[in-house]
Amino acid sequence: ETYSSFTRLFLPRYKRPEVDEISNLSTAIVIDQHRLGGNARSTLGTATDINALLRLLFSRFAAPHIGYGNAYSFNDPAGMCPDCEGIGRIITLNTENALGREKSLNEGAILLPGFNPGSYYWKTYAESGFFDNDKKLRDYSPEEWQLLVNAKPQKVALNYQDTDFNATYEGLAVRFMRQNVKTEKETSKLGAKRMALFSTTAACPDCGGKRYNQKVLESRLNGYSIHDLTTLQLDNLLQVLEGFTDPRSRPIVDSIRERVSNLIDIGLGYMDLSRETPTLSGGESQRVKMVKHLSSSLTGLLYIFDEPSIGLHPRDVHRLNELLVRLRDKGNTVLVVEHDPDVIKIGDHIVDMGPKAGSGGGRIMYSGGYEGLLTSDTLTARHLGKKTRLNLSPRTAKGFIQSGVSSLHNLKNVRLRVPLGALTVVTGVAGSGKSTLVHRVFAREHPEAVLIDQSPVQANSRSNPATFTDIMTSIRNAFAEANGAPAGLFSYNPTEPARPAREPASSN
Ligand SMILES: [Zn+2]
Repeated sequence: ETYSSFTRLFLPRYKRPEVDEISNLSTAIVIDQHRLGGNARSTLGTATDINALLRLLFSRFAAPHIGYGNAYSFNDPAGMCPDCEGIGRIITLNTENALGREKSLNEGAILLPGFNPGSYYWKTYAESGFFDNDKKLRDYSPEEWQLLVNAKPQKVALNYQDTDFNATYEGLAVRFMRQNVKTEKETSKLGAKRMALFSTTAACPDCGGKRYNQKVLESRLNGYSIHDLTTLQLDNLLQVLEGFTDPRSRPIVDSIRERVSNLIDIGLGYMDLSRETPTLSGGESQRVKMVKHLSSSLTGLLYIFDEPSIGLHPRDVHRLNELLVRLRDKGNTVLVVEHDPDVIKIGDHIVDMGPKAGSGGGRIMYSGGYEGLLTSDTLTARHLGKKTRLNLSPRTAKGFIQSGVSSLHNLKNVRLRVPLGALTVVTGVAGSGKSTLVHRVFAREHPEAVLIDQSPVQANSRSNPATFTDIMTSIRNAFAEANGAPAGLFSYNPTEPARPAREPASSN
């Protein structure tokens, strides 16, 4: 009933539960690894409400004073850059695809649909008097290029079908934006495919990607604009906030510092508040959600976490544990699904399921405290006591595969040298640069490597583990041999040889 009747049409329908009454249930909050999502207007700062506190701080204490909190928001007309409307990026003409540099205007250098030589649109450029129509675009001076692509609207005299008249001349990118981007109605005119071909995203030229308008960027507190603060790495931001000592601003600064510290405590100190939420990983999203709830003043809630330690370094697991304990100590009930021994250890009550996976599981094997779990005979207990054997005789390298020296993202002129024929582990706390070094640098320079990551298997509803791993082919061949029939007969996939057509069913 929270939603409008229109929205409800798209929601799943449930039958009324067959009970008379359900009572004493706490409000449950599931904190899972679903991506935070959101759009380009949603950042770490907006998602954690830290931006709202910063806006409040600036509206009271920054100089010059430019208005209430909304005046400092890139999502509000009062604070947003008017050119990109607070997104920081604009969609503009992809000149690589829309213009043929090896051609002149007479040879059809404008590749956009509707600009063939002789057409009305073509004439607005060719007969504007601005260009030598036989000059190839690659020979254009920067001024000519500017005029062709970015010129603001202006009047020119044109002759079309033997009639002289004044037409509006505007740069191709300006026209393209006006016709295809600014009005949604016109977007459909070009179609999504062409739109993708001829458009590209670039940092907004007006605000330089900062999202805010000039007034906001000039309003400062202790020398910082709100944009400066939201682009500082969180651990640096915390230090800068230490310097905000005006006692009148102390209460707001303190709540900002508490939230920023929570984000750092949970291993997100390497981020900044301007980070867009759609770019957060599943684990990062979960930790952000967690911090949001830590700052909530509600108590008596039931929190459910799904494997919060995934992807965390042991140091960060300890920070995670502290946060879980703090949530509990605020008067909440916390339920965690988890494999990590360090998280299991802090449980007041532990439920161990098994004994095995799939059809071999489904039973409660143990429930009680941690000490009791250790002395029980479950698979979990046996593995908790087990130490991984140390590799006392590491293999010697038969050579190395290496990457170039890189300073991408936070890397400080490092290269990765991987010993050939050995097992190499790259470790380090969250945000230390592991993924950048391994995925962005090393793997890109070695496209022959087989990359096994956690991205979902690309497949359709006809795929299952057997088809994906190709086991199905062997199964089909075995059936074909045993039955003297073609292997395609044992496929349900229409892209493979189809099953023999059935006789049309005879109707009585
Ligand atoms: Zn802008």
